[in-house]
Amino acid sequence: MSILSTEDKNIILESIRDIPDFPKKGIVFKDITTLLNTPKAFNLLMNHLEARYQSYNLDYIAGIDARGFIFGSILADRLNLGFVPVRKKGKLPYTTVAEKYLLEYGFDEVEVHIDAFEGKEGARVLLIDDLIATGGTAKAAASLINKVNAHCVECCFIAELTFLNGKEGIESDVYSVLEF
Ligand code: AMP
Repeated sequence: MSILSTEDKNIILESIRDIPDFPKKGIVFKDITTLLNTPKAFNLLMNHLEARYQSYNLDYIAGIDARGFIFGSILADRLNLGFVPVRKKGKLPYTTVAEKYLLEYGFDEVEVHIDAFEGKEGARVLLIDDLIATGGTAKAAASLINKVNAHCVECCFIAELTFLNGKEGIESDVYSVLEF
């Protein structure tokens, strides 16, 4: 198990920029593009995730559209695992399985290819995204993984907005590198 030192955690934390009132008034958007273009912070983060997950006996990494693709695909490559994209509705070309989730107004939907985890019976999957807010997206993505006969072992986020209690509705274990 890899523990991130307070010093390293602060380097990652300070590389994330707050954008007030984006995409709408009252939301403070956690902008990870400044983490991605800070090589020291990005490298510390990926080293930490690689060290944490190398003992999890995983079969796949699944990343949530779109920022989860960045961290997820690098981690998959480092751990020599396959990467599976969990996409917003209408983007995947082959037969998909979908899961709806509620938004403040209306609903959204995530999809995965029906055969995404077929390479391994009962595949052990780590789900990753940049941030958990209300938890709706991650909850839908995790249940989607379980729906296609794989097993979501843990949900990993670079940042968690703890005041929204998003992880409460998620059945899998949850790990957040940073808490706000
Ligand atoms: P939720 O389903 O409410 O947990 O929202 C999570 C998804 O929305 C993630 O894919 C995040 O990238 C994005 N998101 C929600 N709130 C924020 C925020 N304050 N800053 C950055 N991304 C956010």
